[in-house]
Amino acid sequence: MKIICIGRNYVAHIQELKNEIPDEPVIFMKPDTALLRNNDPFFIPGWTNDVHHEIELVIKINRIGKSIEKKFAHRYFDEIGLGIDFTARDVQNNLKAKGLPWEKAKAFDKAAALSNTFISKSVFENPKAIPFKLDINGVQVQVGNSELMIFDFEEIISQVSKYVTLKMGDLIYTGTPAGVGAVKIGDHLEGYLEDRKLLDFMIK
Ligand code: ZN
Repeated sequence: MKIICIGRNYVAHIQELKNEIPDEPVIFMKPDTALLRNNDPFFIPGWTNDVHHEIELVIKINRIGKSIEKKFAHRYFDEIGLGIDFTARDVQNNLKAKGLPWEKAKAFDKAAALSNTFISKSVFENPKAIPFKLDINGVQVQVGNSELMIFDFEEIISQVSKYVTLKMGDLIYTGTPAGVGAVKIGDHLEGYLEDRKLLDFMIK
């Protein structure tokens, strides 16, 4: 199982980090050791002073595929969950300034929080406009909607599978909306997919 992440997929988030709008998806990966499940607490690593939350819709691949055409991409996932792409922003900014890969900032242990529950696509009223949000200590900090993605789920699957064979159980984190920011010890994170609370855990 692999975790594929899409960067820079919401215009307002690109602007808040002063990045350029991409003409094709920005792709990076996390190893399976990055998974944080069961609403276990997230422990801030000692080597960073600026871990950011990035709430994201996560799609789960349900069959093997390579070079998938966009028109067939909908067949490669039936379920959507919620995740947080934890990012050591200080480390990432150093790496970006040097033109180096982001793994230290993105792929570290437990940097991919994931809901235990995934929701079938067929359940959503409008699968093209799925709302989600993150609250911290009861205050809404990030709100997103899949209709605001620059690259939709099908385009992401098509583009990623040009380079990487997708397999059953692979996860794709589809990018974060605006409102990213640092977490601190004692924070209580609650993530919602529509009105379902799928993430509920502490920062330690
Ligand atoms: Zn992200």
